[in-house]
Amino acid sequence: MTTWSQLKSNQPIAIKMLQNSIEKQRTAHAYLFHGPKGTGKVEASLLFAMSYFCENREGTSEPCGECHSCKRIQTGNHPDVHWIKPDGQSIKKEQIEHLQKEFTYTGLESTQKCYIIEDAEKMTVHSANRLLKFLEEPSRQTVAILLSENIDSMLATILSRCQRIQFQPLSQTEQQQYLIEQGIPDSTARICVAMNLNIYEAKEWKDDEWFAEARKIVLQLMEKVMNSNNEGYLFIHQAWFDHFKDRNQLETGLELLLLWFKDIILYHLDEKEQLVFYDQSDRIERYHQMMTIDQAKHAVYNILDTKRRVSMNVHQTLAMEHLVLQI
Ligand SMILES: [Zn+2]
Repeated sequence: MTTWSQLKSNQPIAIKMLQNSIEKQRTAHAYLFHGPKGTGKVEASLLFAMSYFCENREGTSEPCGECHSCKRIQTGNHPDVHWIKPDGQSIKKEQIEHLQKEFTYTGLESTQKCYIIEDAEKMTVHSANRLLKFLEEPSRQTVAILLSENIDSMLATILSRCQRIQFQPLSQTEQQQYLIEQGIPDSTARICVAMNLNIYEAKEWKDDEWFAEARKIVLQLMEKVMNSNNEGYLFIHQAWFDHFKDRNQLETGLELLLLWFKDIILYHLDEKEQLVFYDQSDRIERYHQMMTIDQAKHAVYNILDTKRRVSMNVHQTLAMEHLVLQI
């Protein structure tokens, strides 16, 4: 379990403000945690909910992590704590209506309630207006936490009703250090930081067989395309699409491929300590001899273009065929 003091090392101002409001029992009706991905917003929301409901917390802001409330919040099973995440591309009006309905009943176990809205900027106009009504008539013991990476696309009327807590961007080294402290192996931590994953996503991927296999297949594709474009072409038909079956999976595959070419660029620039696949530096050295920095940049450009096309629902096989012939 993450603690407030751990989060505080990266976000001293934000966490101090939250700890103060918990310790003095002066919590706001609505908070807006904003800042880039991977800065601790999700972790802070979870901790906030635990501190708010913890049965053993005395004179400190740290929740015990052991009581019935803490345990159920950690596993997502507390009846008075609601998490809302985008359903597909947006947060829909029905999701906010459902939340409101839940809240018309008094707290199931206590009189307090807490709801957390992730990616709050993804609310449709209808859902934002719904939420606004809700924020305008707060029941006394309800705390709303809105999380956002992009507050510029949120309604000003919503922003004005929230206490804003800013989460500062972390350096790559700080992020990596944090993941390692949380038990993520260094080699995975580097990939997760490069892919902008938060601690929960990183933990999910740490022991994930699909992800381990994805890393292998991307590496195999690298070997093939370095030999010849034709080998790469054959390989995507033989092995690639057996593993990267849907759009999300394909996007992860492309993201990993991108990191390899970025590593080749880093090697050319003599920034070897920054390599994501630092445990494969022999291989990257070999690749950098086979490819100029301009060729590697060209590959990065093509992969980004393929990612964009895939996100726009271009035929996936065609997009990949095109890519391996371009690299
Ligand atoms: Zn507790």
